[in-house]
Order: sequence, then C-alpha cells, then structure tokens
Amino acid sequence: MKKLLKEYESYFAQNGGKGCPTAKVVYTHTKGKGVVCFCAPHAVHSFVHKQEKNRDVGTGAIVQYLGKQAGFAAIVRNKFVPRKEMISDFILAQKLEDSFFLDIHGMKVHKNFDLAIGTGYLGRQKYADVLKKAGELCRKYKIKYRVNLPKYSGKIGLTGRLQKATGRPQVLQLEFSPSFRDVEGAVIREKTIPFLIELGEFINNKGGKHVQNATKNHK
Ligand SMILES: [Zn+2]
Repeated sequence: MKKLLKEYESYFAQNGGKGCPTAKVVYTHTKGKGVVCFCAPHAVHSFVHKQEKNRDVGTGAIVQYLGKQAGFAAIVRNKFVPRKEMISDFILAQKLEDSFFLDIHGMKVHKNFDLAIGTGYLGRQKYADVLKKAGELCRKYKIKYRVNLPKYSGKIGLTGRLQKATGRPQVLQLEFSPSFRDVEGAVIREKTIPFLIELGEFINNKGGKHVQNATKNHK
C-alpha cells in the first residue's frame, strides 16, 4: 500500500507540483461502485485569484487509491493550468451531479485537530446520518475532528458551489492535517484511508436513498 501511495503521489508531485504536463484533460473522472465519488481538486497546483495556489499534498494519492484499489468513483486534477477550472463546473458539464461527493483537502499546518468537516451552506442536520457515522469512525480510528469551523466550512469550494447549483445535501468537504496525508507515514494507511473507505461504504449502502431524498427535496 505504501508503494502504491508513493507511486500515485509522484504523478501529482511531478513538475514542481504542477502535475502531469502531458495530461490531455485537467480533471479525470473514473467510475466506481455506488453513489459516492471522492474528489481531489487540489491534487496539483490550482489557479485562484489569478495566482498559482499550492497543492494539497497527498490528496491526489488518497483519492487515486480509493478509486483504483477500493473501487470508488473518483475525480482528480491532473495538471496545473493558468486559468480557473472549477471542479463544480466539470461535474455539472459531465452530468455527474447525481452522486454523493466527498471532497478531500488539506490544512496547511498542523492544528489541535486532525480533520475538519464542512457541510457548506446547508446545515449539519441535513447530513445528520453521515455526520453521526463520521463521528463513530473518528472515535474508532482516534481522529480528532471538528465540524463547520468558519475557515473549513466548505462554502468556498466544491461543497458550496454544488449546493448552490443543485440545492441538495450531496457533498461534504473533508480537510486533513498534514500528517494524515503523508504517503511516507503510517497514519495515512492506518487511519485516513480506512476511515474514508468505511465512510464511503456507509454512504453507498444507504446513499442511494440519501441522494434520491435529496433530489426529491430539490422540487
Ligand atoms: Zn484544498
């Protein structure tokens, strides 16, 4: 697993973090089981406020692993381009909006918690079942987590943008601290990935219903 994670990460880390220069497309979507789709829009550097923004190290490897090894649908950013390429626009253009997205990011520095979950514009009660499960899994894997801290609410980003477009509770932002994304360390293998697989399976098992209900709410 360590070897695979390092191999996946080297793809995103190449070219000074700009990713694969010969990639034909900015985003790649791979199909998977169930409704869950893991996303790593900051796997490589992105373009924000007319500036190059550093990537979220390790998030590309995590999502690639969940796609290729655990069988989930996945979207990763392959290469830096000096223009805005929003993952929300990609999802809508590809008509992938009937999925449940787990949007994986990274906090720049270590905090006194390991994971920040953001529910965007929609309140946490809209995600009650998923958040309850996430809490159980955080206790199981000894992950210190917070929900909807102002800086990590998910309003700016895929979570907020997709909610504005569809009105549905179908996307969550998950920001991990650096040690949880280090492909050399044990934490990514013993906590981050098993946690995400169990959370993804939970949503897949009841998630069809989750997205259908969400669709119904959307008039
Ligand atoms: Zn990010």
